[in-house]
Amino acid sequence: MERNNSTKLFAKACTLMPGGVSSPVRAFRAVGGPPVYPVRGKGASIFDADGNELLDFCLSWGPLIVGHAHPKVVEAVMEAAKRGLSFGMPHDSEIRLSERMLQDLPEGWQVRFVNSGTEAVMTALRLARGATGRDVVAKFTGCYHGHSDCLLVKAGSGLATFGTASSAGVPAGTTADVLVLPLDDVEAMEGALREVGDRLAAVVIESIPANNGLLVQAPEFLNRLRQVTREVGALLIADEVLVGYRTESVLVSRENGLDPDLITLGKVIGGGMPVGALAGPADTMAQLAPDGPVYQAGTLSGNPVAMQAGLATLATLDAEGGQARLEALGTHLEVGFSSVASGLGLPVRMQRAGSIFWLALDTETLPRAAEAIQASSMDRYAPLHAQMLEKGIYLAPSGYEVGFLSTAHTEPDLDRLVEALGVALKGLYEA
Ligand code: PMP
Repeated sequence: MERNNSTKLFAKACTLMPGGVSSPVRAFRAVGGPPVYPVRGKGASIFDADGNELLDFCLSWGPLIVGHAHPKVVEAVMEAAKRGLSFGMPHDSEIRLSERMLQDLPEGWQVRFVNSGTEAVMTALRLARGATGRDVVAKFTGCYHGHSDCLLVKAGSGLATFGTASSAGVPAGTTADVLVLPLDDVEAMEGALREVGDRLAAVVIESIPANNGLLVQAPEFLNRLRQVTREVGALLIADEVLVGYRTESVLVSRENGLDPDLITLGKVIGGGMPVGALAGPADTMAQLAPDGPVYQAGTLSGNPVAMQAGLATLATLDAEGGQARLEALGTHLEVGFSSVASGLGLPVRMQRAGSIFWLALDTETLPRAAEAIQASSMDRYAPLHAQMLEKGIYLAPSGYEVGFLSTAHTEPDLDRLVEALGVALKGLYEA
């Protein structure tokens, strides 16, 4: 496959931007080679700067649930843009998007719009701390919640400890009140949360951890987490930035035992434009400024063009059969892949939740915690990624990242993915 133009563009970008990118994983360091430079997208395909057509299973990391440049979404964006790109004033389209989102949320909840998933979780934690008057928050190893200072934290030595910064530039004081817990370990989680007890403001967890493989949790773990947070009077924040609208239950935390006090959203609700949101019961949300003492603001928050992209995306999703169609596509992929993998006798499994999938390599069992992922599997992912690219299939450029389906994908697209994966994996395991 010709990639000269992408190579040249990346070389130039590297002279202008650190790493040549606006977000690190895009630099392809985990898989090697120059990143793909798209010039346009349509449906399930990307067309790159060298004229290649790639079947896209990354979809801008999740937002494009109805595919690239869906005519209805593009039309809504263009109409909104003609009326004005931004007002910095309250307006009708944020009312309409919050009304649409509240259809899937508990009665009496409210929504605050921000510009990214990072901002949504950062604000949710501040709100939880403000509402409880407590400082300590807890997160899980293997969950990602954006790049705000206090969440760039990794476990210290020991199973459930106060964390240390996982990035340079994050002061020790910022993470001193952040407890880092292992997933899939009820005892460690419960013990640590009870020890902190009435100092605990909130626990944040991805409703289905999907940023370090796809680590579906046992129901008893989630039930216990809900119970313990309630008993110690802490808020439970379900981060649905990635998984929101991607499973049949729409917001999976409402049904998987988490029953959260606050939900954070992003990606799909902006349909490819920068949108994040947090939602919770009106009395908790009233703690936010201007009603309450917890400050939060944004020049472009609730941007009218972005709101229209989100509205059109959700309307199109509903019109195209929504989660049921995506579930059918996901099942088709999972069944197809499982039969190929077991036919070949390879130590490879596919984990799936709705329209999200992940390949667990070098294993016969699906991991539930970050520590259970084989490090060797990431070495194997790099050549797999390169071979898939050669076949015109674009997977996320890191083996820890999940894949996404959209309503623009078809069963034959998925058969093509499965067949290509089968051939590539067979070659890799035989080599
Ligand atoms: N939370 C989760 C669960 C995410 O997956 C992400 C992004 N992948 C974020 C938060 C941060 O969102 P953003 O990149 O929009 O800041």
